[in-house]
Amino acid sequence: MHYLLRNRDIQGIESLDVYRESQGYEGLRTAINMDRDKVIRTVQNSGLRGRGGAGFPTGRKWSFLDQSQSQRYIVVNADEAEPGTFKDRELIEHNPHQVIEGALIAAYALNATKAFIFVRGELLTGYESLLRAKNEAQGHGYVGSHLFGSDFSISLGIFRSAGAYICGEETALLESLEGRRGQPRIKPPFPAQVGLYGQPTVVNNAETVANLPPILINGSEWYRGYGTADSPGLKIFSVSGRIKRPDNYELPLATRLESLLYEFAGGPLEGHDFKAVIPGGSSVPLLIPASFHVALDYESMSREGTMLGSGGVIVLDDTVCIVGAAARLLKFYRGESCGKCTPCREGTFWMAAILDRIESGLGTMKDLELLPDIADNVGGKCLCPLGDASLPFMLSAMKYFRAEFIRHIEEHRCPLDGIKNRNLTMPS
Ligand code: SF4
Repeated sequence: MHYLLRNRDIQGIESLDVYRESQGYEGLRTAINMDRDKVIRTVQNSGLRGRGGAGFPTGRKWSFLDQSQSQRYIVVNADEAEPGTFKDRELIEHNPHQVIEGALIAAYALNATKAFIFVRGELLTGYESLLRAKNEAQGHGYVGSHLFGSDFSISLGIFRSAGAYICGEETALLESLEGRRGQPRIKPPFPAQVGLYGQPTVVNNAETVANLPPILINGSEWYRGYGTADSPGLKIFSVSGRIKRPDNYELPLATRLESLLYEFAGGPLEGHDFKAVIPGGSSVPLLIPASFHVALDYESMSREGTMLGSGGVIVLDDTVCIVGAAARLLKFYRGESCGKCTPCREGTFWMAAILDRIESGLGTMKDLELLPDIADNVGGKCLCPLGDASLPFMLSAMKYFRAEFIRHIEEHRCPLDGIKNRNLTMPS
């Protein structure tokens, strides 16, 4: 049974009728019949951690919200743009009511009267699906005044962004939501004190809030029955790249990476071997096959030198040029840098240019010193996490595949020319 990707088990779950037949909005009803503090305690006890990438405990994040102001906001971040990550897309397209219900539960718990779902501009189908679901929910009294006869009233806005990776960063998201250019704010103050329109705001990822209805219905102990003590619950892993069955897989945390890759996703394409995976979206260090025994939970991944991140598992096989892959990702970060701070704006430009130079056979051994030197001037010196996010894959590729970088330089060409495959497989 899926709890997040319920569309896999229940046909038509996009519609309110079918959603209600399968306990839809019962989590909200349960929450509203409880004290707000008890709802917060239930979420804290469940151990739910943010699914956007950072893995911060959701209940703790809620506890930071400044309760002294009369107006506060809940914003659901569905601005999913991390390369290799497409879980929120499936949720909002095919199970939109659960995301909405989760947003309403968070709003009730935090006594907010306005909630927004911020949707990545390119996810038009998901945006339309959410709009339809919101209108249905509103028409049946699940959004609006005095829900379930209580004193809780809520309005919900579905906002489609202009489409920029940086708007996934919560303060850039708030800027964009207010109608300004999506650039990160200086912190502190944090959104929990000064967020949307200057009021206290909690920003939670779409997958995070989609966990709330089943937690409220089944209880925190039920949720803790999955995963580990520190990483409880279920997580959606988006598998893409050079693998037989790219798809979203909803699994308990601490499932082994090798199990995800071989048992669920079918293993490598015929005649090929895995070379590496980027396990948590494009912003984390890669793992080589010797590490595929790792459990997919926050602590085990950290011990293995990487991060669980967004759960976007990008698979590279023996046809993928590691220098080319690094160059391509750096170009992504270069293009998505908002330009506000110099280390990120200039650093991503130069690292992309140098990687391109090496891949095309024009690099020198000096470039192998220059890249980490530039990285050193970017890491920890930027206003928001984007600058830092551009580094882990490149640096880990240089660590594990240094010989491949050197071959490019010594042979003055890409050694994988002829078999190189730039077209990674994506699910339909
Ligand atoms: Fe903009 Fe990059 Fe600075 Fe973030 S790190 S504020 S994306 S320039």
